[in-house]
Amino acid sequence: MKLLHLLWPFLILIMLTTVTAGAGKEPIQLTVDHDQREQGQFFTVTLTNATSEPALWFIEHRYRMFHQTDKSWRALVPVENLSPPGSYTLLVRAGKHEEQISVTVTPNNRAIQEITLDSSKTELKATEIEKSRVKAALHTESPTKLFARLFLRPVPGPTSSLFGLKRSYNGGPVESYHKGLDISAPLGTPVQSTAKGIVILTGTVEEGFQVHGNTVIIDHGQGVTSVYLHLSTITVHEGQMVDAGEVIGHVGHTGISTAPHLHWGTYLYGTSVDPELFEGKSF
Ligand SMILES: [Zn+2]
Repeated sequence: MKLLHLLWPFLILIMLTTVTAGAGKEPIQLTVDHDQREQGQFFTVTLTNATSEPALWFIEHRYRMFHQTDKSWRALVPVENLSPPGSYTLLVRAGKHEEQISVTVTPNNRAIQEITLDSSKTELKATEIEKSRVKAALHTESPTKLFARLFLRPVPGPTSSLFGLKRSYNGGPVESYHKGLDISAPLGTPVQSTAKGIVILTGTVEEGFQVHGNTVIIDHGQGVTSVYLHLSTITVHEGQMVDAGEVIGHVGHTGISTAPHLHWGTYLYGTSVDPELFEGKSF
């Protein structure tokens, strides 16, 4: 017994050393799914063997990485549609470790739309209430991943306007771009959620959503949100959990819209990316 008492401190020391050495032996490993992406697309960045929560930097932004069921950490990192093409670094820090990968952003060559607005339309700007509420909702970064299956097209119908078309108003410089995909569909067509999530915003024309029209925003977790604009009706409420394919409202032309259609937007950490990258895919 006495001998065991004497040995205990040594046994504990040996156990701790083994654990530390075990963790240290597996070097942290940073991987990215593409070495080049176009403007408006995204990189899937994965880190394995990190023992503390990592942080990621890309084009002067810091992104949170989310823990996955396989113990890795992951971030879907957006390339903003107006980011200059060129070479960039994805940098990850986890504790004392630092890893980086060089990636390239290429131009998406989406056309520039010359839009002429008459004086009555130029005055129709987004109200402060819709701007602030939409911005806050799009920056939701809840840690639980709710999307699991293939992302769905929210309504059947042809694409009437692509994501990323650059816009110049009344002959001015490119200041903005089309932050979603327009799908043309008859008035009243049911609109389904692209994936499982929680409704984090419902906004109506009466509440001041003059440009977006009747709006629903859904949080799918881990920085992924989706947006549905110009709806005729909204059939969900804030805080409601919806499944992939669940009806959230109906196609309309409320807000700035000339004909019934759905504007479908997909966002990562508040930055819009091309919905075509999600449709029929799982992540
Ligand atoms: Zn649109």
